[in-house]
Amino acid sequence: MFRRVLIANRGEIAVRVTQTLQQLGITAVSVYAQPDRCAMHVRQADEAYLLEGETTAQTYLRGENIIAIAKAHNIDAIHPGYGFLSENAEFAQMCQDNGITFIGPSPEVITNMGDKLIAKKVMTDAGIPVVPGLTVSVKDAETIRKDVANIGYPVLVKAAAGGGGKGMRLVASENELADAMAAAQREAKSAFGDDRVFIEKYIDKPRHVEIQIFGDTHGNVVHLFERECSIQRRHQKIIEESPSPAISSELRQQMGESAVQAAKAIGYTNAGTVEFILDQSGKFYFLEVNTRLQVEHPVTEFITQQDLVHAQLLVADGQALPFTQDSLKQTGHALEARIYAEDAERNFLPSTGTIIHYVPPSAPYVRVDSGVSTGSEVTVHYDPMLAKLIVWGATREESLRRMSWALQHFVVMGVTTNIEFLRQVIEHPAFQKGELHTHFLEEHEVSPPPDSQTPDAVLIAAAYGSKQSSHQMTNVSSSPNAESNNPWLTGGSWRAF
Ligand code: ADP
Ligand code: ADP
Ligand code: MG
Repeated sequence: MFRRVLIANRGEIAVRVTQTLQQLGITAVSVYAQPDRCAMHVRQADEAYLLEGETTAQTYLRGENIIAIAKAHNIDAIHPGYGFLSENAEFAQMCQDNGITFIGPSPEVITNMGDKLIAKKVMTDAGIPVVPGLTVSVKDAETIRKDVANIGYPVLVKAAAGGGGKGMRLVASENELADAMAAAQREAKSAFGDDRVFIEKYIDKPRHVEIQIFGDTHGNVVHLFERECSIQRRHQKIIEESPSPAISSELRQQMGESAVQAAKAIGYTNAGTVEFILDQSGKFYFLEVNTRLQVEHPVTEFITQQDLVHAQLLVADGQALPFTQDSLKQTGHALEARIYAEDAERNFLPSTGTIIHYVPPSAPYVRVDSGVSTGSEVTVHYDPMLAKLIVWGATREESLRRMSWALQHFVVMGVTTNIEFLRQVIEHPAFQKGELHTHFLEEHEVSPPPDSQTPDAVLIAAAYGSKQSSHQMTNVSSSPNAESNNPWLTGGSWRAF
């Protein structure tokens, strides 16, 4: 096994990878840009090295510099986390060329799956259902117009190199097509340096259901069940769960088998996710493969009781997977909510500043993967995701209740967060019933009540260092008139702390 592993990332995922490394007695080495010199991922690591440069492109995204640090400090392997260099085939190749193991799939697989057009072709050839659509690279405007009319509006224009919800345009009717394509091409060019786009039938009110896959270098490929990630804002997931309330055990088996078949078709090794879109009639279509550990992997860890980062290390080291399909069981139900420093009432404007008080909820079956702590600076330089809150319950009902409880007891002071917004979503009757689709937030117009920035009584208790039990305090905040009756909760005076 590796002795020294470098994590080419920051924030909660760097901290999370560090934890598994340290549990295994592997030295965790972090890198950081100047604004992160006091960041949690730097403090938790066994060693940390500065990345020279100003911008993200000059620091966390600069493969050569990270490789140079790795070589100078005898690194055996690099874990890329998600985002940044995780799906950069050139970087994976650079690692290989320098005798450093890249903890992820091969550069070839990353290249092919990073191109949605190649991915769709490979999946079609392997007999996996894909969303009906067409490629547009060599066609004239008139042919495209006819072909799209055959698919039927609305359609989506997507970037071949797309990711993170960028470069997608919804087209409602034919007279919008030309402009939408031109706009998508421009956006794709500036975001990914690649202006190829394609067109896909727009599935109405779909669910996003994805399958966690894992392969090793001995030819074993398994799936670790599904995650439903239908609660999205601007095509970005914010709440994920497993099992999906929408799928039967037969459908689960079919989707799992399709994902494994997809993984085998491309020679997949290490952790990955096959994303599908599920229409209202229960038909599923391939969307894309994410060739990395996913943000929402803890949901799967909870229901399978596996450490996916540990499995990634074993596979990267050339060992066999620590589980077989038959040994994997989906037990209970897990939910994840992404905690962002943003103001849900002001169009989700990112909120920056110093976190003056940070007390995540602590209880059995509640897991918090944090990238910050009290004293952390939240800046404009990076993604505003602060932490992930993950809960497990024997049933969906139990994990919903636990999530509501945990959100009410998550204290973050100094920056505005989406915690109250998440609670509104979780407690919404339609969410409780599992009636999810990717436009849930628009349809239900979920927004926090005007006073939501006033924290619940627990926050106040924490701010004052009060020893009052959380049980008592929860009662205070859950009584309908508690806010107007409680002097500490009016006037927003807590903000002064
Ligand atoms: P997940 O399905 O795990 O949520 P996302 O596609 O939302 O994955 O991406 C995870 C992270 O990686 C996010 O922080 C996102 O902003 C970032 N990301 C995804 N694709 C890209 C890309 N092409 N370029 C830069 N960052 C990206
Ligand atoms: P990205 O690489 O940005 O993650 P995806 O192709 O995975 O792009 O799509 C992201 C999200 O966009 C999906 O989860 C879904 O909400 C929506 N979406 C993508 N394709 C379609 C489609 N054909 N019909 C309806 N919604 C779609
Ligand atoms: Mg996707």
